[in-house]
Amino acid sequence: MENNRFSRRSSRTVKVGHVTVGGSSPVSVQSMTNTDPHDARATSDQIKRLSAAGCDIVRLAIPDMEAAETFGLIREECPSVPLVADIHFDYRLALAVAERGVDKIRINPGNIGSDENVRAVAKACRERNIPIRIGVNSGSAEKSLIEKYGGPTAEALAESAMYHARLLERYDFGDIIIAVKASDVPTTVAAVRQVACLCDYPLHVGVTEAGSEYGGIIKSAAGIGTLLMEGIGDTIRVSLTAEPEKEVTAGITLLKALGLRKGPNIVSCPSCGRTKIDLFSIVSEFERRAPVEIEGWNDLGITVAVMGCIVNGPGEASNADIGLAGGSGRAAVFKGGKVIFSVDEDKAVDALIYEIKKL
Ligand code: SF4
Repeated sequence: MENNRFSRRSSRTVKVGHVTVGGSSPVSVQSMTNTDPHDARATSDQIKRLSAAGCDIVRLAIPDMEAAETFGLIREECPSVPLVADIHFDYRLALAVAERGVDKIRINPGNIGSDENVRAVAKACRERNIPIRIGVNSGSAEKSLIEKYGGPTAEALAESAMYHARLLERYDFGDIIIAVKASDVPTTVAAVRQVACLCDYPLHVGVTEAGSEYGGIIKSAAGIGTLLMEGIGDTIRVSLTAEPEKEVTAGITLLKALGLRKGPNIVSCPSCGRTKIDLFSIVSEFERRAPVEIEGWNDLGITVAVMGCIVNGPGEASNADIGLAGGSGRAAVFKGGKVIFSVDEDKAVDALIYEIKKL
């Protein structure tokens, strides 16, 4: 369900391969490869894994001309995955990947030298309908702006992003997505809010260098979640010091939590002194097996409750379509708040999956 609880900021639409970003299109999830960009096999394999995990748009670093040439092979291997080339400073790399079928280029036009270079990139992208993502973060804002604002403040980040956008607009190029990111949540949120007011470009939202899996997910949920609930953000990346598939899972889970993406909702209680089953293991086993064993699991709009006790479980999860509630070494399976049968604890996940398949 595309949620209408948040009134969405209005923005123009930009096409990244077959994915539309902005307007009323669903918020897309992005991640980035961390393989050697000169290794076409490893990078293509990782792109395929990311796509299978639900990643809508995949970005890869293009640090030199050899990587730009390798990109041609990756493009052939992954023809249908929207691919973004991440380029710094060298406009010739942008021209090289544009020729090789890239779907979007992340480059900051203020960092690529002369006006002629900017004009050449804008021309190459316009001819092929390739959008450009401007990405400003606290480490890359211009020195002059950092001095003007006394640091990489939200104002500095927002002004920097608009400066880069204006450079492209001078060449009549408006197929732009903007990202402004800091590694702390309040600065990120404030900077994105400012950019949201200053233009109608779609916004890529994330907290940069958010940290390890645990801390990074919390920071990202706070930052990205706050903005999305204000209707700001058209595509997101949860940046983690972890395998990129985890970024995708976190991004999708965040969108589902906000009601911005369809999918099953698993409700589980924290357990307490009434719990007499191994609830933690049952929940992890269910989360691991459900996507594999239940066909179309990720599109099922159902709520499944896994609760620690029969006393409060079915009642606490009365909004669930189906669920389990633990007893002493046993688990009751319930539907719509009513117990339908019970099984031994070690068969609980089998029974739950069996009943979900019958729904
Ligand atoms: S559902 Fe039962 S076991 Fe779980 S927290 Fe509530 S009372 Fe405790």
